[in-house]
Amino acid sequence: MTEIAAPALHFAFDNSYARELPGGYVAWQPAPAPAPALLHLNRDLADELGLDADALASNPGVAMLAGNVVPEGAAPLAQAYAGHQFGGFSPQLGDGRALLLGELIDRHGRRRDLAFKGSGRTPFARGGDGKAAVGPMLRELVLGEAMHALGIPTTRALAVVATGEPVYRDRVLPGAVLTRVAASHLRVGSFQYFAARGDLDTLRRLAEHAIARHDLALAGDPDRVFGLLGAVAGRQAALVAQWMNVGFIHGVMNTDNTTISGETIDYGPCAFVEAYDPGAVFSSIDHGGRYAFGNQPQVARWNIARLAEALLPLVAEPDDEAAVRRAVERATEVVDAFPARVDTALRAGQRAKLGLRHAAPAEADGDAALADDWLALLQRERADFTLAWRRLADVAAGDEAPLRALFADTRAPDAWLARWRARCTADDAATGADAVERAARMRRVNPLVIPRNHLVEEALAAASDDADLAPFEHLLAAVRRPFDDDPALARYAEPAASAFTACYRTFCGT
Ligand code: AMP
Ligand code: MG
Repeated sequence: MTEIAAPALHFAFDNSYARELPGGYVAWQPAPAPAPALLHLNRDLADELGLDADALASNPGVAMLAGNVVPEGAAPLAQAYAGHQFGGFSPQLGDGRALLLGELIDRHGRRRDLAFKGSGRTPFARGGDGKAAVGPMLRELVLGEAMHALGIPTTRALAVVATGEPVYRDRVLPGAVLTRVAASHLRVGSFQYFAARGDLDTLRRLAEHAIARHDLALAGDPDRVFGLLGAVAGRQAALVAQWMNVGFIHGVMNTDNTTISGETIDYGPCAFVEAYDPGAVFSSIDHGGRYAFGNQPQVARWNIARLAEALLPLVAEPDDEAAVRRAVERATEVVDAFPARVDTALRAGQRAKLGLRHAAPAEADGDAALADDWLALLQRERADFTLAWRRLADVAAGDEAPLRALFADTRAPDAWLARWRARCTADDAATGADAVERAARMRRVNPLVIPRNHLVEEALAAASDDADLAPFEHLLAAVRRPFDDDPALARYAEPAASAFTACYRTFCGT
């Protein structure tokens, strides 16, 4: 029998970070995996990157995705970064178990990082083993795909490969390597790293690098450092508003997990809120509730203030008091404007979720109150956040029963619904929209399927404990179609039993 030669595995790497940021990384090689086995390959993403999915799924491809073969043109490196973790500053974190392989230009001309997670210890590993387990890596994959399908900026997983090696946590778990695709891995903590060391030369090069990657329009602008700060603030404000409108709790919004690109990164102890509660916390390490659902906009503002601090030395000589004062004032303006930027994005999103199109300035306050009162109703009645929004679309289509069924007292939404209807009537008069069109529009912004915590756990347990990937694949297929009303997916739309949610905890960094 003839061996069919594997199709070419060609990567057109262009490694601008390695080139432009010496001092910002350690060149390093991935640890070999004894018995690589592909658990999932993201074929659509491979195609977007101009990669041959069949070649990646072949033995040589899987060996590469496990870190056993470094592809030509890659320049694997562990990035240096610092970060505030739960408010406390660590001057050196860095990629302890991750490696940037290199950068590719995708089919749309966008530069994307290709990076490993779980590829072995690096000089930044501190006490860690450099490894990752199958469950948490599949979790990152499915959560990222769900966020992407919801239209929320996110890093994505290209593949997860089991290594065939045990990793030791509270019990022995199968090991895995995830290949992550990101607009970049630059974080607020990347800037903090050089600022804390007083390395202004590299800090400046990092700012130029970030501008070239994410804000090219600012290149050459004399005010580009403030421009960058404002642009990052704008992206983070938009991101956190999107999280709030789908009920996503990141769980560990440390500055090292806050991207310059505005993508969601590091799906550790994250979860989606079910019974609506702004105080919801699921992370096992978030004892004080710092990263509770409702705190996320304030935390994002705090993180932007840390970025502002890190950038200040680039815009004012430390011994020029007047210049420092002016720079601090301008940075403070950006930070102080952050809540209003979140609010604008949040309110626009809520208006769309409420099925409203027209907002005369006089109506904006009324719409905000309408949204706030809706959320207060959901909180009071402990209604499921996702389903309540979705079933409001059914009400628009003339069917109230599914929404009422979410409330212990089926009359609880009466007063609010009357106000909402009156507002819809006014909106129709202004826009010429009608009920059928409104319901369809609402179903395009209010998802039916999110990665429900109990289903994620069930899928990961089957994959990790029994090497059964079927529940994971089904879940993945469902969360990739969050807005579709497919009876075959009904199970993926159902909330967990409240007893499950009450005890639910997520774990970080495993
Ligand atoms: P995270 O909580 O995943 O954002 O990681 C915070 C820091 O801990 C980063 O510097 C990681 O590289 C590092 N880290 C997390 N887990 C491990 C591990 N198992 N081995 C080495 N470093 C790790
Ligand atoms: Mg991290």
